[in-house]
Amino acid sequence: MSQKNNMEFNQLTIHELQEKLRDGSLTSVEITESVYRRIASVEEKVHSYITLMEETAIGQAREADRRIKEGNADELTGIPIALKDILCTEGVRTTCGSRILENFIPPYDATVVRKLKDAGAVFVGKTNMDEFAMGSSTETSWFGITKNPWDLERIPGGSSGGSAAAVAADECIASLGTDTGGSIRQPAALCGVVGMKPTYGRVSRFGMVAFASSLDQIGPVTKDVEDCAIMMNVISGHDTGDSTSVPAEIPDYRKFISRDIRGWTVGIPREYFVEGIDPEIKDAVDETIKILEDLGAKCIDISLPHTEYCVAVYYIIAPSEASSNLARYDGVRYGFRATGGEDLLDMYKKTRSSGFGAEVKRRIMLGTYSLSSGYYDAYYKKASQVRALIKSDFDNAFKKCDVILTPTTPTPAFRIGEKVDDPLQMYLCDIFTLSTNLAGIPGISVPCGYTRTDLPIGIQFMAKHFEEGKLLQIASAYEKNSKIERRRPEL
Ligand code: GLN
Repeated sequence: MSQKNNMEFNQLTIHELQEKLRDGSLTSVEITESVYRRIASVEEKVHSYITLMEETAIGQAREADRRIKEGNADELTGIPIALKDILCTEGVRTTCGSRILENFIPPYDATVVRKLKDAGAVFVGKTNMDEFAMGSSTETSWFGITKNPWDLERIPGGSSGGSAAAVAADECIASLGTDTGGSIRQPAALCGVVGMKPTYGRVSRFGMVAFASSLDQIGPVTKDVEDCAIMMNVISGHDTGDSTSVPAEIPDYRKFISRDIRGWTVGIPREYFVEGIDPEIKDAVDETIKILEDLGAKCIDISLPHTEYCVAVYYIIAPSEASSNLARYDGVRYGFRATGGEDLLDMYKKTRSSGFGAEVKRRIMLGTYSLSSGYYDAYYKKASQVRALIKSDFDNAFKKCDVILTPTTPTPAFRIGEKVDDPLQMYLCDIFTLSTNLAGIPGISVPCGYTRTDLPIGIQFMAKHFEEGKLLQIASAYEKNSKIERRRPEL
C-alpha cells in the first residue's frame, strides 16, 4: 500500500495503467485524482488548459471503474485524456482559442470525442491552442500563452501546444491534437513526446472546427509509441459525418509495436538538410541513422525536389481555405457578437474586427486576396499545381524506400516573444512538417534526444498513405533501441 502511495500514477503510460486497472491494483478514480493533483501544482506555471472538467471526469472515472469490474473494459477505459479545444464537446465550451467562440457550447460531440467516450476514456479538460490552430507557438490564443514544461521561458510549439505540454508535464496521460501543417508533430517534438498526424481520411474530422479542410487531420499526442498505437486504434475509421474519411480497413496498430525493421530502406531527403538547421538537431539525426542501421535498416539518400516550395504553397492554400471556413463567424450563428453596430454590415465588421486576433485576420486577408478574381490563377491555382508536384515527389520517393526520415523542426523550442511579431520567421518553423499535409500522407514525431541545455529534439518519419502501421513499427523499434533515457521536466 505504501508503495502505491509513493507512485505517481499520472506519470505512467496508457499501457502501463491498463495493466494496473485490469489486475485491480489501481482504480480510474485514483489515476484521475493524481492527474488533478498534478494540475493543481503545475498548471499555473504551464497553462496547458483553457477549460478543466474535473467534476465530470471523476464521474466518468467512477463509471469506468464499474465497467472494468464488470469485465467490460475497452482499450481506453478509465484513462484520463485531454482534448484540444478545437474539438466539439457536447455541453462543454469549445473556444478554438478565440474570443469569437469564447462562450460557444456545442450541442454535439466530435466523432473522435464520441469514440473516446464509447471506449470509456475520462476527459480531463480542453487544451490551449493558437487561435483557430493558426500558429506554431501557442502564443496567439485569446486565453493566454502555454509555456514549455522544459523551460518556462520558451514556447511549447503549436498550434496544439496545450495538448503537448499537458502530456509532457504529466497533466494527463495522453491527448488529442490537430495537424494542418505540423501542429501535432512540431509541439510533440519541442515538448519531448510522441505525436502522429494520420493519413488524410484516416480519422473523421466531424466536429473539429475547420481551419483548412484539405489539410486538417486529428491525431494523438502520447508519452510513447505504444500509446500512440492504442489511441489510433480507437480514433481511426470511416464516418458518414466526414465525407473525406475513407472506408479502408483498419489494422490493429498495436501489432506493429516490437516488430523489427531488418531489411527496410529509409530515405533521407537531402533537401531537408539545408542551411539554418540547428547543429544539435543535425547531430541527433545522424545518431538516429546509426541506430536504424544497427537495427538492420539501410539508409539511402533521396530527393524531394519540390521541397523548397512547401512553405509558399502551404501559406497560400491554408489561408485560402481558412478565409472561406471562417466566413461563418458573423456574430449571428455562433458565439460572440459586438454591440453598437449601426446596421447588419456594421455589426459583422465590428464582430469580426474585435472577435478575431491579428494572426487570424492576417490569414483571412491573405486567403481572400489569393482567391479573388484576377489573382486566383496566379496564387491559389498555381499553388494547387505545385502541390500536385510535391505529392508526386513522395510517390516517386516511396518507390525507393519504405519510410522517410527527417528532423521534425529546424530548431529546438524558441523563446516566448521571439518570433510572434515576425510572421515569416514563424512560418519557417513548419518547413519540415508541411509537406505531409500537402501530400496527405502520415507522419510521426518521436523524441530523439536533448540539446546541451536540456531541450527536447524530435525526429520525423513519413510513410505512404494509410501506412501508419509502418510508422509505428519503425518509431517503436527506434524508441526501444535508442537508449535515450526517459527524462521528466522539472517543474
Ligand atoms: N503552424 C502552421 C500554421 O500556422 C500549422 C498549423 C496547424 O497545423 N494547425 O498554419
